[in-house]
Amino acid sequence: MRKANCNIGRAIHNPDLTAPIFNIQSYSIHDGPGIRTTVFEKGCPLRCVWCANPESNFPSPQLMTYSSLCIGCGHCIPSCNANAICMQEQSGKVLSVTNRTRCTTCGACVAVCKRKAREISGKVMCVQEVLNQVERDRMFLESSGGGVTVSGGECLYHPAFTAELLRGAHEKGFHTAVESCGFASRDVVDLVFPHVDLALLDIKVMNAEHHKQYTGVPSDGISNSIIHMMILGADPIAAARALKGCIYHVHGKDARIERLLSDVDGILEPRPVTDSAERVWNYVAVGCGHDLNWWKEFFSVVHMMGYDGDVSLEMEDLTMSTEAGVATSVNVLTQVISR
Ligand code: SF4
Ligand code: SF4
Repeated sequence: MRKANCNIGRAIHNPDLTAPIFNIQSYSIHDGPGIRTTVFEKGCPLRCVWCANPESNFPSPQLMTYSSLCIGCGHCIPSCNANAICMQEQSGKVLSVTNRTRCTTCGACVAVCKRKAREISGKVMCVQEVLNQVERDRMFLESSGGGVTVSGGECLYHPAFTAELLRGAHEKGFHTAVESCGFASRDVVDLVFPHVDLALLDIKVMNAEHHKQYTGVPSDGISNSIIHMMILGADPIAAARALKGCIYHVHGKDARIERLLSDVDGILEPRPVTDSAERVWNYVAVGCGHDLNWWKEFFSVVHMMGYDGDVSLEMEDLTMSTEAGVATSVNVLTQVISR
């Protein structure tokens, strides 16, 4: 029954990992405390109707064309070995048009276009290259109490790269932050968040139906991550109400914020789960973090919101034996789940 947390604290230690980078912005002042260098990764699983950077959606470099800058000189046509460019009349002007199915994003046409009507959006970079660029801003980041923020696109879309980048930033002594919509699996959260000092979560829409309508993806994956982060102050009972009709699976699992330790250190926890005695919060058997009345209300609300399925027990409490943890959780669950 004990689920191995094989990803927790697992640093990949591979500075050669790559991801498409949309932009690296120095002197950011809205992405966390102090002056920050913000790394925008390219690729996002959501398609929000209000997206201000749709060119950051796709997880690979892309050719961007700007017809308002094109003067129809045709210099780009012979530069393209893929034969992807032709001239077409548009609104009374003859302009270049690109066949996207043929384009290999080689960038040759960008180099010859003097009007800057063509551009490659995104560049594949390795962790070390990004860290080298961040290093140039060190003086500003340190003197302002700032650090590195990883954003997107969606920074959890390339979890191994993001985890390694954040780990490397920590090693260099930088404060780290992520800007994320939270659309990620539990394993991704466990991989990335041990290296995060500050999480800026951008919850798009609480209503599950509207979430799917306006972002293109259901909110259950997002909400699952939020419940996992209940130690950061989210309320699973309120979340269950907001997810009315969209709860497909429920785990019996609990977390306890460790008083005295969290009073000093706050509740962001980079230590591995095996350091139970040092951690400011721990996974615990059901009932050892939240009391029976809390669990009764939780399962009552979950039931009212339309969920009538099984409750899985995920045993991760390292403060007691597996057998004791299972027995404790089963005892509590049988008392709080109405049949
Ligand atoms: S080289 Fe630039 S300006 Fe000339 S046709 Fe091509 S895109 Fe237009
Ligand atoms: S990026 Fe390369 S393949 Fe694509 S249109 Fe330009 S020259 Fe052709």
